[in-house]
Amino acid sequence: MKPLWLSLLLIATLGITACSEAPPQVHKAKLFTLGTLVDVSVHHLDKASAQQAVKIIEDELAIINRQWHAWQDGPLMQINQQLAQGKTITIDSSSHHFLQQAQRLAANSDQLFNPTIGSLVEQWGFHSDDRPDAAPPTKKRINAARKQMPSMANITLTATTLTSNNPAVQFDFGAFGKGYAIDRAVEQLKQAGIKDAIVNAGGDLRAIGSKGDRPWRIGVRHPSEAGVIASIETDGDESVFTSGNYERFFDFDGRRYHHIIDPRSGYPANDAISVTVIHNNAATADAAATALFIAGTTQWPQIAKQMGIDEVMLIDNDLTIYMSAKMAQRIQIEIDDAQIKIIDDER
Ligand code: ADP
Ligand code: MG
Repeated sequence: MKPLWLSLLLIATLGITACSEAPPQVHKAKLFTLGTLVDVSVHHLDKASAQQAVKIIEDELAIINRQWHAWQDGPLMQINQQLAQGKTITIDSSSHHFLQQAQRLAANSDQLFNPTIGSLVEQWGFHSDDRPDAAPPTKKRINAARKQMPSMANITLTATTLTSNNPAVQFDFGAFGKGYAIDRAVEQLKQAGIKDAIVNAGGDLRAIGSKGDRPWRIGVRHPSEAGVIASIETDGDESVFTSGNYERFFDFDGRRYHHIIDPRSGYPANDAISVTVIHNNAATADAAATALFIAGTTQWPQIAKQMGIDEVMLIDNDLTIYMSAKMAQRIQIEIDDAQIKIIDDER
């Protein structure tokens, strides 16, 4: 047996050898915006370019956060007040672009992704930075909200105006704004000539390029335990978004109520516990993860098809993992004894 000092010397020497190889140049930064911690990784740039990249991302995310925040005093609160009064609202071209994309995604999801249910989300206590500790709304209030049920179909957009024919429309872009902001940030990065980066907002991300000679590798959080349930290597320019019932919730009378509301029932959707979507557009992936979470174990393939999504993983209450064939081809499941159902989307 080698003496201990020799082992230590060997380890130390190996350590130095590893370090003396050219280390991968990944610059990292953390930002706090969009209600979450945003991790930025940029590969292979000098420090000044990496700092420039972080600044671009920070600025873009801040713009969207300010414009579309659902419960901080700002432009969206004013829009919501005017919508309740049935007024015609003047909008600029960037708001038009944002709303138009949201409207298209809502229609394709059969309004399961419904960013007009702000008052319902508020009644459930989720318009707050803290975890709500209130009781769920009464059945009566939920039924009243369901009766008026607004949707993006109530919205008319022109290049410069926004109107609604349902005074119950109250925008909440919690399921879309993060994706939209990340798209904007990444477009700006590309224009600045940055080719290899990840913008990761609390597990929802868009990755471009690679980490040098390796692809970016991403973990999907286990929905009910610590650690990851799966990992994905991104290819080129891709977004990976997950909606889970563990993100924001409260417990009341022994039951858990979370923040993804099924507009059909007015209650938190309860069939899935997590949905992961891969798509090249982050805003689409964001809205789709939410819509497919609500669609649940039986309806997700149909809604995914309508939304043009072909890479989906849905996990239900029993931890059964449903996947589209395309997702199954590329995702790596990181737990033992997983129950997997691959749904062939060519039915
Ligand atoms: P996260 O933001 O935690 O990643 P989601 O993207 O699924 O999760 O967005 C959930 C948020 O979207 C909620 O906190 C709420 O603000 C809003 N929301 C809840 N239900 C819906 C729905 N049916 N359609 C659109 N937005 C919703
Ligand atoms: Mg979403």
